Amino acid sequence: MSGFTTTAIHSIEDVEKNAIVPPIYLASTFTQPTDGTEGEFEYQRGGNPTRTQVEKTLANIEGAEHSFVYATGMAATQAAMGLVQAGENILLGMPNYGGNYRFATIELPKRGASAKFIGDFSTLSDDDFDEKTTMVFLETPANPTLKVSDIAKISEIAHRNGAIVVVDNTFLTPYLQRPLELGADITVQSATKYLAGHGDLLGGVASTNNPELAEQLWKAQLISGGVLSPIDSYRLLQDIKTLALRMDRQQENARRIIEVVQNHPSVEKVLFAGSYNESDAEIQARQAKGIGALFSFTLKEGKNIKAFLDSLKVFGFAVSLGGIESLICLPATMTQGAYTPEHLEEFAVEKGLIRVAVGIEDIADLEKDITTALDAA
Ligand SMILES: *Cc1c(COP(=O)(O)O)cnc(C)c1O
Repeated sequence: MSGFTTTAIHSIEDVEKNAIVPPIYLASTFTQPTDGTEGEFEYQRGGNPTRTQVEKTLANIEGAEHSFVYATGMAATQAAMGLVQAGENILLGMPNYGGNYRFATIELPKRGASAKFIGDFSTLSDDDFDEKTTMVFLETPANPTLKVSDIAKISEIAHRNGAIVVVDNTFLTPYLQRPLELGADITVQSATKYLAGHGDLLGGVASTNNPELAEQLWKAQLISGGVLSPIDSYRLLQDIKTLALRMDRQQENARRIIEVVQNHPSVEKVLFAGSYNESDAEIQARQAKGIGALFSFTLKEGKNIKAFLDSLKVFGFAVSLGGIESLICLPATMTQGAYTPEHLEEFAVEKGLIRVAVGIEDIADLEKDITTALDAA
């Protein structure tokens, strides 16, 4: 077994021409044998050599049997959550990415299915499941509170109750966390974030080791049509090659910025993966190789968020994360803007919560920028 980055770089070879990067196949359709057999590829929505290349690489870096790429992370969520059928229900970990919440609360009911919220998986028990519960869908660390959930323990309870487990692994990627190895059945990721990493590509991935689930995830491409284009498949393939390098730098920068923010007198509290209590820290250390590069914090009462934001010059004020550039957002009105006021409160997405996605810029510049802004608050 090669290491992560060697695998990311060398999963695909152009055997025909010995080019160090593969060609891009743009063909919408592929001519077929006339003897009734099927060619390897038929029509681009169902499969394309360039998409296969990035899917193979993604599967290899995740240690998964099957990976499928979609036009956006939400198309990957749709493929996974869309497995739920009329009359069934899911347990949705909360808080969760706003788009996942939207799919669960708007789209599932249209299909005759429903979602029950789980705000704290540490007390999950058989009583949370009924005979119609077929899926647990969670994000760990959670967006934007960074609260951690124990994937292995949740998978054990879910499987005992006949439900599959889907983990949105966007925040940590397979470089830092591999939910399938911990017992999850499907992982989804927004490739828009760390996998692509340069703020210029939308994409999604779903992976599994289960052949029947794989068939369904492929059918979601074929039937719903939200597939990644050949050009974006190629670009994603190139981007993944530097994922580990970028994440190492982002994580190192994040650790330092967390320290700076924690020690600033304007700051009330700082949240990051494993920050809640000893059990949280233990779970994070056991199931992931680091804390990632996201954290959230609140300012002390009387401090001015607008003055803080207006003072920032290097950190951009925008949704999204995982790119080389540092971004800051206010989840309650931005990424979690679809939540009802009651759900914002119930799941601790405070109005004043500030989420930080740390990029790869020079640490001295990031430190100076955020310190100046905190001083201005
Ligand atoms: C952005 C995001 C998504 C959705 O991905 P898109 O590519 O924007 O559709 C899903 N989950 C998480 C955690 C995200 O951050």
